[in-house]
Amino acid sequence: MRYVSTRGKAPVLNFEGAMLSGLARDGGLYLPETIPAFSGLNDLDGLPYEEVAFRVIRPFTGDSFSDAELRGAIDRAYARIEHTAKAPLRQLAPGHHLLELFHGPTLAFKDFAMQLIAQLFEIALKRSGQRITIVGATSGDTGSAAIEAFKGIDNVDVFIMFPHGRVSEVQRRQMTTPEAANVHALAVTGHFDDCQARLKDLFNDHAFRDGVGLAGVNSINWARVVAQIVYYFTACASLGMRDTDFTVPTGNFGDIFAGSIARAMGLPIRRLIVATNQNDILHRALTTGEYRVGTVEPSISPSMDIQVSSNFERALYLAYGGDTAAIAQLMDELKQGGFTISQGALHALREQYLSGRVSEDETLAMIRTIRAETGEILCPHSAVGVAVARRHVEPGVPMVTLATAHPAKFPDAVEAAIGIRPPLPPHMQTLFDLPERVTRVENDVQALKSLILDRRTQ
Ligand SMILES: *Cc1c(COP(=O)(O)O)cnc(C)c1O
Repeated sequence: MRYVSTRGKAPVLNFEGAMLSGLARDGGLYLPETIPAFSGLNDLDGLPYEEVAFRVIRPFTGDSFSDAELRGAIDRAYARIEHTAKAPLRQLAPGHHLLELFHGPTLAFKDFAMQLIAQLFEIALKRSGQRITIVGATSGDTGSAAIEAFKGIDNVDVFIMFPHGRVSEVQRRQMTTPEAANVHALAVTGHFDDCQARLKDLFNDHAFRDGVGLAGVNSINWARVVAQIVYYFTACASLGMRDTDFTVPTGNFGDIFAGSIARAMGLPIRRLIVATNQNDILHRALTTGEYRVGTVEPSISPSMDIQVSSNFERALYLAYGGDTAAIAQLMDELKQGGFTISQGALHALREQYLSGRVSEDETLAMIRTIRAETGEILCPHSAVGVAVARRHVEPGVPMVTLATAHPAKFPDAVEAAIGIRPPLPPHMQTLFDLPERVTRVENDVQALKSLILDRRTQ
């Protein structure tokens, strides 16, 4: 399978190449040239998660990994998810189900992709003898998932930038307490969008990029999107492989984009619904056609406090029919603050996605409502999803809302809603006793470069 950049000026790569590079050299994002149709949809019910994962992922990896390597990586990755179903469905109300993606080691859905790509990186790097430096930007959950997945993996250093003071204490501690020498947590003065912008600066400096063997594991990494396709399949298999709606709490557009790939592979997904908090650039873009960057308003669902939604570029690329020149032009305009989506592309996007926005008060109210109606405690991100989903539930069509994090990861928001601090699961009880290791850094690309050169263990 061949991977091409959304901006059309980067080399065509195979799966391994696209995975190891993350961002394409022209600043674009890699996508497969064609999306493979899935055969055997009706054979999936009752299979272990790992087996479904193998069947869904296999067509994307081409000759980059043998079947045995891929199966081994999947088995090791998902052994750390503390639920035999891995992504269990739980019923919230008649016709409305929660897809629980928070049973992994860092309690957010990011573990599904990160655990797998750490295993795939290890296989690829062992084979080539190459050493790499992973640099990531996080609004909280990507960073903890990356550090947890890559700690102690040979031939890799991991640097994670997070916005200082803007991640929850559990998120921060998950990044700052692992002891492995190859992982480094960096607290950047600024917002998540600043971290993301500095990450792009590092990647666009080709001398630095080649010098340290820079690799990216942010949600722009195609291998992460691929891993996230799997749970749409297991959810539909559990519901009898009939038309199903999905609502996805969305920030960087990775999880929901995986849903649109699942649909393109033939999964019977009827509507895909984007749920945003008050940082609603995606909702505004889909309703007005204007993709304009505002200022980030910190919220109680911080993993979605994003204005520039990186993976949206992939959706635009498909909506513009693969017109790479048009995408490169839009991304240039974005540097000036935004762009207008063409009528044709907007129409195509609206055929793919509905959207909704949820205020802070509505989020808190939804945590209360679901607690009262079902006894379940939602994390604030999942509550944003459930609130939007409830506006769209239709009789006869199951609705699945992705529950993206465990409530214990965001205890302040949950306590504000229902007066209860949800406890951490047993395997994380020591988190608050462990010493933290973190480096403060200014929102400045030169400062970052010297820090990375200085700290690498290689
Ligand atoms: C990352 C994250 C999101 C947003 O996911 P995207 O793929 O970036 O849209 C939502 N909720 C939680 C808990 C997350 O960690």
